[in-house]
Amino acid sequence: MSLPLHYQQLQKKIDAYAQQCGRNPGEIELIAVSKTQPIERLSQLVAAGQRHFAENYIKEALPKIEALKDYPLTWHFIGPIQSNKTRDIAAHFDWVHSLDREKIAQRLHAHRLPTQQPLNVCIEVNMGDEATKPGVSLSDLPSLAEKISGLSHLKLRGLMALPPLTNSNTAQHAYFQQLHHAFDELLALGYHLDTLSMGTSHDYPIAIAEGATFLRIGTALFGTRG
Ligand SMILES: *Cc1c(COP(=O)(O)O)cnc(C)c1O
Repeated sequence: MSLPLHYQQLQKKIDAYAQQCGRNPGEIELIAVSKTQPIERLSQLVAAGQRHFAENYIKEALPKIEALKDYPLTWHFIGPIQSNKTRDIAAHFDWVHSLDREKIAQRLHAHRLPTQQPLNVCIEVNMGDEATKPGVSLSDLPSLAEKISGLSHLKLRGLMALPPLTNSNTAQHAYFQQLHHAFDELLALGYHLDTLSMGTSHDYPIAIAEGATFLRIGTALFGTRG
């Protein structure tokens, strides 16, 4: 099947899942995770109407952003952030989902140009407390949120997670519920958040049921990465 057709089918599935659980499909945005995909495939999706793209590596992302700069696209950075990459990320992206350290937040703030809108950020949470994975623990989340909200060139929008891989539906629901709960706790503290970035190719229907507002989907859209 062609990529544009595949894209339309995925979008229909997302809308149907949303309706099944009583959510407004308009509140759920599909982000095309385009890492390793060539520019031509992104162009095909742009022509089909896709506007949100996510990349994990700055070196790979910059030529794509440049090539597609005439379109009204929104670029999301979702990969690990090294200190020496914060300048390029702050300059070229609209969103960062993988923020998990104060030092990186300060650097992104310092590099975001005053002429640009504040950089939208989500805090990445390590749901399973997995030592090898990025993300702040649930217990350290409130203090990081407080530090980020003091940085005027950043706009804290919500939370992101990539929960531990599991085939258990119950466990998948539980991880997303925990993230949603942490989000509600920050709302109760007075933060103005509107974004839950959760759900990838293998668990997005569950993420929709648990309140996701951004789905980050690569494989289920483009096919297996080479
Ligand atoms: C690669 C990636 C995705 C997309 O994963 P798929 O399984 O290909 O849908 C989503 N989120 C993050 C943080 C990623 O690195």
